[in-house]
Amino acid sequence: MRSSEATRIYFDRAADELDLSDSIRRLLLTAKREVQVQIPVELDSGEVATYIGYRVQHNDARGPMKGGLRYHPQVDLDEVRALAALMTWKTAVVDLPYGGAKGGIAIDPSRLSLRELERVTRRFVDAIHDLIGPDVDIPAPDMGSTPEVMAWIMNQYDKYHGFSPACVTGKPVDYHGIPGRDEATGRGVGSLTLKLLSRLGRRIPGTRVAIQGFGNVGTHTAKFLRDAECQIVAVSDAHGGFHRADGLDILDMLRFAQAHAGRLDGYTGGDALTNVELLALECDVLIPAALGGVLTTANAATVRAPIIVEAANAPVEPEADAVFEERGVTVLPDILVNAGGVTASYFEWVQNRQHYQWGINRVRQELDRILAEAFEQVWQLSMSRKVSLRTAAYMVGVGRVARATVLGGMT
Ligand code: NAD
Repeated sequence: MRSSEATRIYFDRAADELDLSDSIRRLLLTAKREVQVQIPVELDSGEVATYIGYRVQHNDARGPMKGGLRYHPQVDLDEVRALAALMTWKTAVVDLPYGGAKGGIAIDPSRLSLRELERVTRRFVDAIHDLIGPDVDIPAPDMGSTPEVMAWIMNQYDKYHGFSPACVTGKPVDYHGIPGRDEATGRGVGSLTLKLLSRLGRRIPGTRVAIQGFGNVGTHTAKFLRDAECQIVAVSDAHGGFHRADGLDILDMLRFAQAHAGRLDGYTGGDALTNVELLALECDVLIPAALGGVLTTANAATVRAPIIVEAANAPVEPEADAVFEERGVTVLPDILVNAGGVTASYFEWVQNRQHYQWGINRVRQELDRILAEAFEQVWQLSMSRKVSLRTAAYMVGVGRVARATVLGGMT
């Protein structure tokens, strides 16, 4: 299924519950602006390569548009469009004063030198600098783009518009970034997993958790839940995974991954298992924290965890979501559970605008507060309207955007 079709299905379900008119639906589904640009770059070899860059600005009814910049060979307009809409609903679920956007360049960053990547990024900013900005659209890192890339974006944007640290977030801490941004998504996933367990009346210590993906989100989620005395019984990365019934030593695995370019293969502190086996593992909470579309109708029936926490974007396909709903599996949806990253990005933007720095404790405290409030709203709505947590989250997000659109006037 195309990414945009999945987002559309969830939107329609929420719009039906909210009883939105056809004209509002059409307005909310149509992107405000979609841009495709040519990025010609001289490679280190002297050859010229031409890449395609995208920025989709979906909706700004609630504030400047916000969303990551993906560097991946499979980036295309359909994917960027779907992710931009997802950002609109996500920023609204956690009640940030933002709209939604997303961008990307169809490129494999691992095949470029650092200088080539820098040139691609600067040329992309040359092409779109008039369309972005602190009050308009604020990019951030996403798959394949890093804090260093964000630093180049700010530096290039500044050449046109003067000192503007708030034009992009996810910057290095030593270059107008903030401490706590790095851990924020995983911290949010961890803290909302604990909230869900409490709401479901489950005991937290000893909860058996399996995590797919041991990158930024997976590692911080694992650390947070380990500190809360959960047992992380399995983790995996792109090269395979490891299982231990009485809990893996997460700190040891982190040290191993750090010493081996982020990879876990060769680790000896657990039994090897495949990614397919991890998804079907007997455990209490399954956390897909790597790719989208990993849980489909082909494997939904094999999942034995009663709780799925969507740390990755769109890891559960809509048909699989229906299977889980029918089977009584609780799914904590991506637009709520992985919103910690954009929330910390919002803190970075606020601090950049005020030229005032918070400490890490304030970042964590505000993050926990915002996510906890959003969780409670979604939970209550899900209970009172007898809808899934996903539909409730979309209802909160879409409802807020619809109200702002009407209040601001539509023409
Ligand atoms: P990352 O690149 O840091 O880590 C990704 C991890 O997934 C790596 O361990 C990688 O080896 C693993 N992986 C890749 N392909 C895999 C496969 N086929 N099977 C199993 N594992 C595989 O990425 P991240 O920042 O941790 O993001 C993970 C997911 O979370 C993505 O879907 C991303 O869109 C989403 N997300 C991230 C953030 C954030 O702040 N980083 C915020 C919101 C959503």
